[in-house]
Amino acid sequence: MALINKLVICGVGLIGGSFALALKNKGEVRHVVGIGRTQAALARAVKLGVIDEAGADLPSALAGADFVLLSVPVGQTDAVLESLALHLQAGTVVTDVGSTKSDVFAAVYRRLDAHLASVVPSHPIAGTERSGVEAANAALFEGKRTVVTPLPENDPAAVEKVKAAWRACGASVVDMAPQDHDRVFAAVSHLPHLLAYGLVHDLAGRANAELLFSHAASGFRDFTRIAASSPEMWRDICMANRQAIVSELDQYLGELALIRSLLLADNGDRLELLFQEAREARTRWGEKTLFDIRDI
Ligand code: NAP
Repeated sequence: MALINKLVICGVGLIGGSFALALKNKGEVRHVVGIGRTQAALARAVKLGVIDEAGADLPSALAGADFVLLSVPVGQTDAVLESLALHLQAGTVVTDVGSTKSDVFAAVYRRLDAHLASVVPSHPIAGTERSGVEAANAALFEGKRTVVTPLPENDPAAVEKVKAAWRACGASVVDMAPQDHDRVFAAVSHLPHLLAYGLVHDLAGRANAELLFSHAASGFRDFTRIAASSPEMWRDICMANRQAIVSELDQYLGELALIRSLLLADNGDRLELLFQEAREARTRWGEKTLFDIRDI
């Protein structure tokens, strides 16, 4: 028997589409209905076989649904949950994939207070710089990790259903508190995206930008790949987690100030030591990760 009978995906893009495809591939979902912002994107999702049906309206989409996945930019969470709340049936399990969790928690308590037993936020640590349903990929979550941030009010059976769905997608699951989640991902995900966007933006604005880009090679490509990510999605993540991100930026500015001072002081020995320490930390991390770091 499939884990999910009727799955509703709110936001059928890279992540929502990949979740649907992964579960379909494993035979763990019987019917997938998509809800979206534009009908054109939903029509493409049907054509690609990512969803079985574009929901005509929320009441009919949610009728009889046993699982809802919210996969919209986090700035949309509050409004989407507000409209879901009007039609959500008791007992339907709801999760999300938002890259920030404190804001999602606040929206869940604000909009779905009658459904707290069955709303279990989560965040798959998998993705690419591509967006939209065309980028959806059944293998996206294979060998990756999903952070689940259960509410104290959750029914254990709902938590287990959300975790089972992620495991069926090929991910391993870890629990985290939302504030811890947001601090950790400010450091290892949100800050790197800001740095990549910032570097490309700075170079692109210079009078000799064309010359600079014409000489940029693989180091630049690797460092800036994520600057091709969705601006809307990253605006929302940065706004939702701005306090933690500002702390990380301050910390990083301190590191840059140290590197700058070593250059000004002509201190190559100390600079080499810093690089050596960084290389060792990067190597240890690469050895410990569950997945091939070339795929991240
Ligand atoms: P995406 O490919 O741009 O997909 C987002 C989808 O949400 C689009 O289909 C969009 O529809 C739809 N949407 C936007 N506002 C909506 C609304 N008000 N109601 C219904 N649908 C709406 O983005 P994504 O990469 O899948 O990201 C989705 C979520 O996953 C975000 O919260 C992000 O933080 C999280 N996440 C992303 C990654 C990653 O690497 N991309 C990784 C982990 C988590 P239209 O196309 O019609 O506008």
